[in-house]
Amino acid sequence: MNHLTNPVASILDHYPALIIDGALATELERRGCNLKDDLWSAKILLEQPEKIKEVHYDYFKAGADCAITASYQATIAGFMKRGLSETDAIDLIQKSVRLAVEARDEFWADEANRVGRSKPFVAASVGPYGAFLADGSEYRGNYGLSESQLMDFHRPRMKVLIEAHADILACETIPSLVEAQALVKLLDEFQSIEAWISFSCRDEMHVNEGQPLIDCVRLVEASPFVSAVGVNCTSPKYIPSLIREAKKATKKPILVYPNSGESYNASRNTWDGHPVYESFGEEARTWYQAGARLIGGCCRTTPEDIQTIAGWARSSR
Ligand SMILES: [Zn+2]
Repeated sequence: MNHLTNPVASILDHYPALIIDGALATELERRGCNLKDDLWSAKILLEQPEKIKEVHYDYFKAGADCAITASYQATIAGFMKRGLSETDAIDLIQKSVRLAVEARDEFWADEANRVGRSKPFVAASVGPYGAFLADGSEYRGNYGLSESQLMDFHRPRMKVLIEAHADILACETIPSLVEAQALVKLLDEFQSIEAWISFSCRDEMHVNEGQPLIDCVRLVEASPFVSAVGVNCTSPKYIPSLIREAKKATKKPILVYPNSGESYNASRNTWDGHPVYESFGEEARTWYQAGARLIGGCCRTTPEDIQTIAGWARSSR
């Protein structure tokens, strides 16, 4: 326990499920944004910030209890490589939080939007080191970096996201035990914000780098600063098994926000294959039944998927 506010608990204390939002980057593409860039959704932060706000707003409208910010691939080093000064890079990362806060406040200002739900919160995305490399290595891991090198990578962005007053950090698409360890240590170092830690997995039992998910969850379980743990950007067909694995190692709420089941082709920057389920949002009900309490979607999911989840999740409230 710690003295910090835990936005996850403040919703789950009152409702049986917390609805996470859906994809940001692929939804921006669906709306005509060009994300063929190493900085991915961060490019839109620079060029079309109003589009990001619009997507956040639409997810709140669809029923999401939180927005995950457009900082997944935004790092100070990445922006500086694009010619920004350090100050401008920091400002742009913090802008990702401001846009989500503005969308939330506009949404919440309308009384009609408040019926039967909690005020949504803002989860600042902390993407893995592999997202900074922009070569798809978050789906493989094996960066060859030590825990302390990973801490050095993550520390500055986490600091600026905390300073931008995000409600929680969403450490997501984490492919390895060592990167989770680095994040847990940093949360301990900061002592000033809670986080969720979410792994990307390659099958029914293992994170993308190959360690058993159960070991990763056990590690995270020990941290007083982690308010939920689970899996994202993973094929939905593995989710029921992964929930069972996670449950063996944690009493924390379990979160799942898989992708559509299509697979990312890093060399072409495209998603290949077909969605695994006809209705992602309906399938999500089985994840709730398996024990997940925070449920949403990752790449290739849409506001319509989130609306379907909200449909069954809110009626069971
Ligand atoms: Zn994803």
